[in-house]
Amino acid sequence: MAHDLVLKGGRVTDPSQGMDAVTDVAFASGRVAAVGPGLRGAVEQDCAGLIVTPGLIDLHTHVYWGGTSLGVEVDAYARQSAVTTCVDTGSAGPGNFPGFRAHVIEKSRARVLVYLHVSFAGIYAFSSTIMVGESHDMRLMAAREAVAVAEANRDCIIGIKVRVGRNASGPSGIAPLDVALDVAEASGLPLMVHIDEPPPTYADVVARLRKGDVLTHCFRPFPNAPCHADGRVREAVLEARARGVLFDVGHGMGSFSWDTARKMVAAGFWPDTVSSDVHAMCIHGPAWDLLRTMTKFMALGMSLPDVVASATVKAAEAVRRPELGTLAVGAAGDASVIALEDRAIDLEDVRGENVHFAQRLTAKGMVIGGVWDA
Ligand SMILES: [Zn+2]
Repeated sequence: MAHDLVLKGGRVTDPSQGMDAVTDVAFASGRVAAVGPGLRGAVEQDCAGLIVTPGLIDLHTHVYWGGTSLGVEVDAYARQSAVTTCVDTGSAGPGNFPGFRAHVIEKSRARVLVYLHVSFAGIYAFSSTIMVGESHDMRLMAAREAVAVAEANRDCIIGIKVRVGRNASGPSGIAPLDVALDVAEASGLPLMVHIDEPPPTYADVVARLRKGDVLTHCFRPFPNAPCHADGRVREAVLEARARGVLFDVGHGMGSFSWDTARKMVAAGFWPDTVSSDVHAMCIHGPAWDLLRTMTKFMALGMSLPDVVASATVKAAEAVRRPELGTLAVGAAGDASVIALEDRAIDLEDVRGENVHFAQRLTAKGMVIGGVWDA
C-alpha cells in the first residue's frame, strides 16, 4: 500500500516506544500510518544520515507576534528549530486571548498550545526599554475571566501560567501564584510557574505546586537557584519532584546557567523537559532556539534519546496530549528531521559563560499533520 508520505532511511529515535533504529516512517490521512523498513509513499523524503523524531514540542515559547512585544513569528521559528508544536506560556491573558487565537493560532502551520496567563493582558510590557511586570498589580489578576476563557478554548488552552519573582510580581510577591492555583483547580488544568530573583524563593514556590504542575526556569542562576552553593539540591526541590511536580528548563535570556546545570546534573537531577523560552530578546542569543538548548544538554552528558524524550513524549505528558510526542501508529502525523553535525560550537549561558562542544543539532525539515514542510 502506498502511503501519502514516507520518511526513508532515517535514524528513527522515538523514546515513547523505546525505538532508536534506522528505518522508515509513513503518514496517511494526517496521522502516523506505519513504522518499519521498505515503506512506499506518494511522496518519499530521503532521510539517510539524519535523525527522525516525533514532532518536537517546545514547551516554553512566546509566539504572540505583534500582539505582545516579546513575540516571535511562529512559523519562522518552528522551521528554524524543526518544532511542530509551540507551547506559548503566558503571552496572552483572558483580555487579549481572542486576538492571539484569531491572528496567530488559527493561521499558523505549526501547532500552538497555550498556558493562559492569569494576568488580564498576559505579558504586555516586556521589551528592552519598557519592562513592567504583569503580576505587580493584583487588580490585574483575572481569576473569573481566565476560567471562562480557558473553558471556552479547551482545544488549545492546556494550562494556566503565572510569573512570580522580584521582576514579574514585585510588591505582590507570591500572591499571584495563589490566584493562579485557584484558577488551575477551577479549570482542572495544570499550572506553569515562572520564577526569577527572590522574593519569592524557589523553595516557597515549588512547595505550593501540585503533581503535574510545571516549574519553569528550573536551572536558573544564583540567586534563587535550585541548589545550594556547595551543590546540594534544595530539599523543597527534591520533595516537589517526589510529589510529581515537573521541572522545565525555559532557557530565555536570564534563566539557564552552566554553573547551576553542572551542579544539578552532578547531583543526578536532570530536567523533565528541555525548552527554549524563545522570545524577541533571546532568539538571537543566548537561547536561540530549542535545538540549541537541546545541544547544551547533550554537552552536559544527556544522550540523544534522552534529550529527544525531553522535547517529545515528556512535553506531551506535561500538556496532557498523548497523541503528540510519539510516532506510534495512529498518533498525530508530526515528525521532526534533524541532524547531529560534527561541527564545533560555543554554547553561551545567560551569564556569558561559554562551553565548547564538538557537535550541534540542526533542523532539516518537519512533518505537520502528515505533510512535509522543509
Ligand atoms: Zn517565558
